[in-house]
Amino acid sequence: MWSKELAEIKEAGLYRQLRTVDVVDDGGYALVNGKKMLMLASNNYLGLAHDERLIEASIRATKRLGAGSTGSRLTTGNTTLHEQLEERLAQFKQTEAAIVCNTGYMANIAALTTVVGKEDVILSDEMNHASIIDGCRLSRAQTIVYSHCDLHDLEEKLKAASAYRRRLIVTDGVFSMDGNIAPLPGIVALAQRYDALVMVDDAHATGVLGCCGRGTAEHFGLTGSIDIQMGTLSKAIGAEGGYIAGSRLLIDYLLNRARPFIFSTSLPPGVIASALEAIGIIQQEQERRQHLLQMSRKLYGGLTALGYDIWGGETPILAVICKEANKAVSLSQMLYEHGIFAPAIRPPTVPMGTSRVRLTVMASHQKQDIERVIAVFRTIHC
Ligand SMILES: *Cc1c(COP(=O)(O)O)cnc(C)c1O
Repeated sequence: MWSKELAEIKEAGLYRQLRTVDVVDDGGYALVNGKKMLMLASNNYLGLAHDERLIEASIRATKRLGAGSTGSRLTTGNTTLHEQLEERLAQFKQTEAAIVCNTGYMANIAALTTVVGKEDVILSDEMNHASIIDGCRLSRAQTIVYSHCDLHDLEEKLKAASAYRRRLIVTDGVFSMDGNIAPLPGIVALAQRYDALVMVDDAHATGVLGCCGRGTAEHFGLTGSIDIQMGTLSKAIGAEGGYIAGSRLLIDYLLNRARPFIFSTSLPPGVIASALEAIGIIQQEQERRQHLLQMSRKLYGGLTALGYDIWGGETPILAVICKEANKAVSLSQMLYEHGIFAPAIRPPTVPMGTSRVRLTVMASHQKQDIERVIAVFRTIHC
């Protein structure tokens, strides 16, 4: 029944297969299909997923409270740890309150399907993450896509959207494929002018951007101006889960109405304890983020000096633009042969003609790791 569809996927060169990735140390290296490789594809930006303190916190909580949480948050799955984590997140994000969902994906679905409905309009950046796209579809609001980071296009579309009950602008804070930062000051100004709400997906910015790692809003000095701040606990925070931070009213409403929050068993205590521990570490050990950004800039500088067309640079996400899909695939292959793991990203994930190899730097990487990557790039080309 599905073999014809799969054959078509294979023919288009878009067939996907799983690889096993067993991370063997603090995250800088991993066993990919059994081969030890420098990991340049992980979202574990601060190297916290393998931090002993997170692991120990998880074990302690699991022993005390169990392997599973036994129910949804509104039935039996709400431990004191869950409540502590939400308080901690609100404090970290400098909002009145926060709510945790099981994944970042679910947090986006929860927020978008709850805060807007049929009478409303969502203005969504064309490069937004798939979970935002799915949230928009499920929300039943009219969705209008604006050109990537294009404030002029956003303004035109806001002007045309004045008849709707509510307008919601939604954007990634850091774009996962391009590594660039959304123009939040301009977005916030337009939202004020055209009476719109702003939602930012800080999956790649939480723990990474801003002078205390609070994310994109902090990076721009706009912490009080974003209505809905979504993020994930699974990237820099090194655990698993998603969150939404905002006003007390917003969070209360989500708790009462957001179906992904209400109808799913809550995260297990061990995961919650790891996330709590990680937020403490992020706030105390600012040098992790500084080192991460230093290594990212070093890689960016080294590769652009070799003549590569690199997007990103302000964040740990760098895109080595190869244009054609097969060139990106062969660059990724060559890196693989040199013991460097970095995947090729092709359409439809990115627009035609912008196929790339995506590199993500981690705080676990040292100067000599980055120098080795640059040396490998010097000997190959895409
Ligand atoms: C990873 C990611 C998500 C989803 O988060 P998970 O916790 O992995 O479900 C949402 N938005 C963006 C921009 C992401 O990169």
